[in-house]
Amino acid sequence: MNVLQNVFSNENIIPIKRNSEVYLQVRDVARLSFFLYVVLQFKNIFYSLKSIVMALIRVTKEFRFEMAHALWNYDGLCKNIHGHSFILYVTVLGEPNTNNNDVKCGMVMDFGDLKRIVNNAIVKDMDHSLAVSEKSKHQLLLGTGQMFERHHILPYQPTCENMVIDFAERIKKLLPQNIKLQNVKLYETATSFAEWNADDNI
Ligand SMILES: [Zn+2]
Repeated sequence: MNVLQNVFSNENIIPIKRNSEVYLQVRDVARLSFFLYVVLQFKNIFYSLKSIVMALIRVTKEFRFEMAHALWNYDGLCKNIHGHSFILYVTVLGEPNTNNNDVKCGMVMDFGDLKRIVNNAIVKDMDHSLAVSEKSKHQLLLGTGQMFERHHILPYQPTCENMVIDFAERIKKLLPQNIKLQNVKLYETATSFAEWNADDNI
């Protein structure tokens, strides 16, 4: 009797309970950790998919053309007819296509489509031409014959700034609806350029 009483005494039972409690706590912590791990994995997958599906990307293409201009009523050297090797950067903004069945999958816009639009709207039109303001005495120039076959009598002074505004307007009209014109940068010389940006012209 004394032996049994001794075995089932509180002193012997308590450690068993304590072990059980410790076991339960460890099991709960393991479950909680696993739950948090699963939640974090789902969160990572969700944000990965969201970043692929929802990301807005800017796509830029470079164009080059040769053009002459003269600034009527200007007080510097550019009042004389002179030429530049213009470099034009056109940047569009959109979401990459996520349709796996579409041949344009993964693209904001096919570079070839952007090339065709800008070439038709600007490069083919302006290359190897002379651009002057309609306020200039251009009739005298154009009367001299074939040297001025390719010319543009513009309703604005053909500065780099005004031309980049004109070019941006031309491109905007030709882009697909889901594509936004974000930026147009026109280099007149290696160190001088004008830039049109959609965020500045809302
Ligand atoms: Zn110039």
